[in-house]
Amino acid sequence: MRIFTVIGARPQFVKAAVVSRALIQKAEASEFMVHTGQHFDENMSKVFFDEMEISPPAANLGISGGGHGSMTGQMLIRIEEMLVEQKPDWVLVYGDTNSTLAGALAASKLNIPCAHVEAGLRSDNRRMPEEINRILVDHSCDLLFAPTEVAFERLEKEGIGRDRIIRTGDVMLDAALLFGERAKERSTILENLGLQEKGFALCTLHRAENVDSKEILQGLMEGLGEVARSLPIILPLHPRTKSRMEQFGLSDSLHDGIRLIEPVGYLDVLRLESSSSVVITDSGGMQKEAFFQKVPCVTLRTETEWIELLPGGYNRLARPMVDSIPCKVEEALSAELDWAVELYGDGHSSDAIALCLKNALK
Ligand code: UDP
Repeated sequence: MRIFTVIGARPQFVKAAVVSRALIQKAEASEFMVHTGQHFDENMSKVFFDEMEISPPAANLGISGGGHGSMTGQMLIRIEEMLVEQKPDWVLVYGDTNSTLAGALAASKLNIPCAHVEAGLRSDNRRMPEEINRILVDHSCDLLFAPTEVAFERLEKEGIGRDRIIRTGDVMLDAALLFGERAKERSTILENLGLQEKGFALCTLHRAENVDSKEILQGLMEGLGEVARSLPIILPLHPRTKSRMEQFGLSDSLHDGIRLIEPVGYLDVLRLESSSSVVITDSGGMQKEAFFQKVPCVTLRTETEWIELLPGGYNRLARPMVDSIPCKVEEALSAELDWAVELYGDGHSSDAIALCLKNALK
């Protein structure tokens, strides 16, 4: 079986790391991996290939920046050329970025079967560029791997035939389990930063709707500043957020308790997550990783696609406003939570995906 994988952004490296292993070990597949270049900084890309032992991509298209249309269009052109040449059995795409959309569109126009890992996620906020990507990709793909029950039901509700949807669990749980021990052994991030176990909050922030408006970003930083009065915050700064902070002149007015650091690798982030007392984020992946590490989470958004985390109190939404953030963090820190629930499968979702792709060809 010949797989043509398209990835380009940080969360996709994490997901592909475990699926690629399974494709080789469980399905004897060969993989041609294309990195679109959407994320290119060493600490947003290369570190993941090194730490998670992902084979170097067969091609790096070097496409990043610019408008959504320009980026997606350039990717589409290049991926189509490569697909014509490679003639794979499957195209495999992950998540909800422009790279995902370009891969899925290129495959469907050439009638090459395409499978989507992390299908069926919806925020119901059509202003999010990721939401449009998810909908278009799910409706164009041949096989949809739904990580949760909610995602499975959503795809059915949208009229997608049952024969195209497979419940698999979430490959990010596989990754957290596989690399969690390694993170404990190898990561020295707590020592390097002089942090105490459970003595800090871990925060990340990068969604366009949060960081592209000066007013919203300022409100978020002020809200985090309130939290930082009693709990230090470690904030690995996404390149997009860094450039907006500089552009809006917000870098110098931060509360002293907010410590900005460069984005960290996967092993360091796992160690930071498991050692933090609360995760505060607008990341999709980190909402689940907090749950995997049994750490409560506050999501800096008005909605989330990972809604199964809300009823049990594992995650709570905070509006990007000064009063909402400290209040939700306080609630999260004092909540008694039952962590003995399985929402994301058994940690072997990647194996299920690999076998399913193989069996579907028979
Ligand atoms: N992550 C990381 N280093 C960081 C921040 C995040 O390795 O400094 C990881 C995080 O643990 C998760 C993934 O990046 O596995 C999530 O990526 P991101 O938040 O960029 O995207 P999203 O999940 O929102 O699509």
